[in-house]
Amino acid sequence: MTIGSVLIANRGEIAVRINSAAKALGLRTIQVHSTADTDSLAVRLADEAVPIGPPAAKKSYLNIPAIIEAAKTAGADAVHPGYGFLAENADFADAVVAAGMRFVGPSGTAIRLLGDKVAAREAARKAGVPTVPGSDGRISSAADAANIADEIGFPVMIKAAAGGGGRGIRIIKERSEFERQFLQAAAEAEAAFGDGGLYVEKVIERARHVEVQILGDGKNFVHCFERECSLQRRRQKVWEEAPAFRLPPEVRDRLCASAVELARSVGYVGAGTVEYLYDEDAQAFYFIEVNTRIQVEHPVTEMITGIDLVQEMLKIAGGAPLSVRQEDIAISGHAIECRINAEDPFKDFQPWPGKVEGLTVPEAAHVRFDTLLYEGYTVPPFYDSLLGKLIVHGETREQCLSRLGEALGELEIRGIPTTVPLHTALAADPDVASGRIHTRFLEGWLETRFAARDSEKEVA
Ligand code: ADP
Ligand code: ADP
Ligand code: MG
Repeated sequence: MTIGSVLIANRGEIAVRINSAAKALGLRTIQVHSTADTDSLAVRLADEAVPIGPPAAKKSYLNIPAIIEAAKTAGADAVHPGYGFLAENADFADAVVAAGMRFVGPSGTAIRLLGDKVAAREAARKAGVPTVPGSDGRISSAADAANIADEIGFPVMIKAAAGGGGRGIRIIKERSEFERQFLQAAAEAEAAFGDGGLYVEKVIERARHVEVQILGDGKNFVHCFERECSLQRRRQKVWEEAPAFRLPPEVRDRLCASAVELARSVGYVGAGTVEYLYDEDAQAFYFIEVNTRIQVEHPVTEMITGIDLVQEMLKIAGGAPLSVRQEDIAISGHAIECRINAEDPFKDFQPWPGKVEGLTVPEAAHVRFDTLLYEGYTVPPFYDSLLGKLIVHGETREQCLSRLGEALGELEIRGIPTTVPLHTALAADPDVASGRIHTRFLEGWLETRFAARDSEKEVA
């Protein structure tokens, strides 16, 4: 490898994760941080820490000049952007390279192409990947959108070309709604993403979210099979699994091959995820987008394949060819990840930062807890509420679920409310156990289960 050090341009559990992967490869680590993160685990674990600004992300974790300056001063050879923040910012990738360092991810050009969801749909179509029926490019007016919807059938979604994190998506049930929704959606997208571009997609009802992990070094491209991410709230993943359930081998082959084809068609470099919606009745999958970065749920893939995806990313950025060949990648058992947030599931998931008075983490060979927590740490209120991810492996999905139940019972985060009770209930749910779920399942489930428990408490 041609790199000896890496700057971590992120915070939280993913910064901790990148630090340990980098250390395992013998790299020196440099952790940038805002003034709110001086006491963070990531700062404590890194070889070097560099303050880059005040708590507001705009002035720290999104501050490109400050991060480039920190990297140059510290003599970093590479910059890992993690997920969120600048991870899919093409200008940042370009700035890192222009400053003479390696960006741990694809080129700015590739991020620009695949990060634009409309351009990515086009690239997918060209690579022979089935896409969700919808507009060919960006839509130019409410009338334009309405005509496309008439053609493909209602309901449809208006989606922001630059959207992410489940935001910038709205459902349109009938023609008359476009008049009001189109301009509003464009204005919102412009404000949130700096790009008001919109496109239309047919709503795939009762679909499952299935996605394929890919790795590329520009010449060789492999997939590390798929993940199931259908348990979502507000279009954000809450619980993820690998592999997806009840996927016929022939469908899995086509799905994974299509992701590799797309990677090959753009000469992909680094780790990435190709996301799809899966219609189980029709056994049909439809491309929705590419995430050109490490994903929150990458550990479930690591658990079933034994591949360290973050180490692979660093090795690729260091100029090494892929160290894994497709024929050597196999699925072993089943893995589930629960996202543990500092939110109160009984109070509409209100974020609840504060001091962690005590922490007990389950320990077993089949359990992994990726976290930013330590005892006595005060969770700051300025950022995403993710505290950690509990990941459990089993020989079968059944064993995995029962081990998950045990691990959730042993995990104790004292002092602040967390989403652990939500996961405990899900792990014991018969519909989750039978896999009768889809992307809207959790919303309905929460209304009947957690809303009911709320009112029970009020009565009591
Ligand atoms: P995925 O969850 O599949 O990786 P998303 O599109 O949901 O993909 O993007 C990740 C989400 O994580 C974003 O919505 C972003 O707001 C959020 N996020 C960004 N930075 C961080 C961080 N440092 N810690 C936790 N979450 C973050
Ligand atoms: P983001 O960039 O915010 O992650 P995605 O396009 O990946 O947006 O979609 C996020 C989620 O929204 C999906 O996992 C799915 O639950 C829902 N969704 C997106 N597009 C569709 C669609 N055409 N039909 C049904 N659900 C959809
Ligand atoms: Mg997505």
